[in-house]
Amino acid sequence: MKFQSTRDSKQEKFTSAQVIRKGLADDGGLFVPESIPALTHDEIKTLCGMEYAQRAAYILGKYLTDYTHEELLTDCSEAYSETSFVGGAAPLHKIGDNMYTQELWHGPTAAFKDMALQIMPRLLSRALKKTGEKRKALILVATSGDTGKAALEGYRDVDQVCISVFYPVNGVSKIQKMQMVTQLGENVNVCAIHGNFDDAQTGVKKIFADSDAAKQLDEKGFFLSSANSINWGRLAPQIVYYVSAYCDLLNQGTLEMGEIFNVCVPTGNFGNIFAAYLAKLMGLPIGKLICASNKNNILTDFLQTGTYDRNRQFHLTMSPSMDILISSNLERLLYFAAGPEQTKAYMQSLNQTGAYTVSNAVKEKIDADFCGYYADEQQTAQTIRKYQENGYLMDTHTAVAVYCSEQYLESNQDDKTPLVIASTASPYKFAADVYTSLGMDAPEDALKSQQLLSDYTGTQIPYPLVGLGERAVRFDKTVHADQLLEEVLRFADTQS
Ligand SMILES: *Cc1c(COP(=O)(O)O)cnc(C)c1O
Repeated sequence: MKFQSTRDSKQEKFTSAQVIRKGLADDGGLFVPESIPALTHDEIKTLCGMEYAQRAAYILGKYLTDYTHEELLTDCSEAYSETSFVGGAAPLHKIGDNMYTQELWHGPTAAFKDMALQIMPRLLSRALKKTGEKRKALILVATSGDTGKAALEGYRDVDQVCISVFYPVNGVSKIQKMQMVTQLGENVNVCAIHGNFDDAQTGVKKIFADSDAAKQLDEKGFFLSSANSINWGRLAPQIVYYVSAYCDLLNQGTLEMGEIFNVCVPTGNFGNIFAAYLAKLMGLPIGKLICASNKNNILTDFLQTGTYDRNRQFHLTMSPSMDILISSNLERLLYFAAGPEQTKAYMQSLNQTGAYTVSNAVKEKIDADFCGYYADEQQTAQTIRKYQENGYLMDTHTAVAVYCSEQYLESNQDDKTPLVIASTASPYKFAADVYTSLGMDAPEDALKSQQLLSDYTGTQIPYPLVGLGERAVRFDKTVHADQLLEEVLRFADTQS
């Protein structure tokens, strides 16, 4: 299996180890597989009898053909162990007629990013050896909250790698911030930036595109690599849990082999839902892919009109991981719907004017698989409250998706297909907003909110969040968006 850039019509090919090492293509595009490997019903049947780690090794093996099965199985078994994912890696939970959440947040940082970031550092470490890379990988991350912590935890003290994380100073929850600034490890750096997530992401992308920066880092013995969902090593492991959900639905008798299920994903950077799309292309019987957004509903508009226009107001919401106006992974969908040449033109237009409109043919292709809905703040809060009253507590991001799923079902009343909603964070990561949504008054202190939420709902604070208040703050710096490179070079000097 080889990979190529979404913008390269000459189709230069790379191995999976190369693309995991590189992160982003030299032309600014994202790496995509040159073809889609098939997943047959017989194979799915075999996967039904496996544990999550084995399922993961099998699916990853279809894309990472320069890794041996033994390597993948070793890495997956370590990444998805019972000690990291207490209670299982991606359990389904029935929350209504034909409606399930798949809880992707039982990992070491209580966010779904763990599903990918527990395995990806292991894949990168092997990629460095496979490609004969002697320099250190400097992982550069822009985060709207969860990626940062999950990446820090995944990469901490991994050999031949160091990691520098930037987060928007007012764009993450207090708990997310506490998780990051108390991160342990000798090879980690955390820094706030003045601005929102897009400022952070744009700043990081600029460094990736800056050949002078690459030269300076090279002289110090480093090269840049990404942990954002623009990296293929992040995306591939996310395909696994959709396959796993289907196996679980088969195993519990909800579906017969070949019957379809729908998927709804609370979406920000479009990585998670794109992984579901890949699973569908492989042959997993998925019907509709429902793209759920919060008040930053640029994707809802895009899916409805065919025009992507980021010239709009940016809103800070209680689902901050979805507060995004540039959904990077959408480029991968454009590639599959429109090909590299048109994708390149759309991206140029996005760069120059902040907008692009896809052709009718491209829109029709996308419409066949996707639809989009959004939830505002009040609708999100009401959804949390309604389901808690029925005994299920969910976080703000999951609630956006649950509301959008209800909207979908209201507009498609004949659709009795089981619907799996990606549940992307523990409610305790957003405890104050969840507690407030339940009609209570949340205190200033985020940790107190967690305790009150636990007392009120009779649910438990997950193990990664216990004792957060007692950990020492290690990082308290804030810089301007144009000082990112300076900060990265400073950090590199401490890591030589
Ligand atoms: C990252 C994240 C999302 C968005 O996922 P994308 O792959 O960026 O679309 C949704 N919810 C939570 C809690 C997240 O951390």
